[in-house]
Amino acid sequence: MENLKKVELHLHLDGSVRPSTIASILNIKEQKVKEKICVDHNTKNLEDYLSKFKLPISIMQTKENLTRISYELALDLKKDNVIYAEIRFAPLFHTKQGLTIEEVITAILDGLKQVPIKINLILCMMRGSNYEDNYKVIEAAYQFRNKGVVGIDLAGDEKNYPVNNFKELFEIAKDKKIPFTIHAGEADTYLSVDNAINLGATRIGHGVKAIENNSTIEHIKQNNITLEICPISNLNTKIYNDISSHPIKKLYDENINITISTDNRTVSNTTLNDTYQILRDTFHFTKEDFIKMNQNAINASFINEHEKELLLKELIEQ
Ligand SMILES: [Zn+2]
Repeated sequence: MENLKKVELHLHLDGSVRPSTIASILNIKEQKVKEKICVDHNTKNLEDYLSKFKLPISIMQTKENLTRISYELALDLKKDNVIYAEIRFAPLFHTKQGLTIEEVITAILDGLKQVPIKINLILCMMRGSNYEDNYKVIEAAYQFRNKGVVGIDLAGDEKNYPVNNFKELFEIAKDKKIPFTIHAGEADTYLSVDNAINLGATRIGHGVKAIENNSTIEHIKQNNITLEICPISNLNTKIYNDISSHPIKKLYDENINITISTDNRTVSNTTLNDTYQILRDTFHFTKEDFIKMNQNAINASFINEHEKELLLKELIEQ
């Protein structure tokens, strides 16, 4: 699995900070950091899972730290033989000590530039944020279009903030021709997947609950939607109790465009290589299956057609 070239579309920067980096910045023991930010047996749902991001975000408030953290994540992606990635984060979470949104994005891009892998950014609007703050995220995505930012997302507490509350913001994104993905069908039901598609999402973050409703499955197929599947994260948030219960194989057999991601390397305590290994051992996916999933990822990525062609060629010729 290490040698397979991969594409990762669903990866949060704040959930993928190396524990050793937090430990060195705060001058505390790495084990202490891991206890605070990695999932454990006390993690019972999405809310518990989201609480793990507090500590990493607290140190992601300076240009220096943001550059270091994104640089290190790019190195970690290289180890997984990733040839293209889209990394996401909520810019406003990193402005608590005075950085502007522009400074945050620039610092992150500065870190990524130092590693020879093609990586772009997705900016997250947050379900718990107000309209004005989420509007700023759309403006930033527009400002940095063609400069390293390729789209936007909606993340956070899905159950308490239904996707339809954000209709107006996604209308603005559509007017500005900013592509978007939406976290849906993770903590909430398949209906949130239908709603996200109706709002114009071309990709769905997770979307696994779609398997519970035939018409949602049809809705996904008719609109050629791609699902960003993050199997290990789904186990962490207790959507499924064990990997064999995960619907990834069923979704794949339904001919839905699925892709594989980690969601959060550190919080979920995984790598892309490990995730592929687990999927291969459990569902007996072949190398060809994985190549197909990575083709899906390239096709659904937010880059232009020429860039997609080059990546598809690299993937097929491996
Ligand atoms: Zn996510």
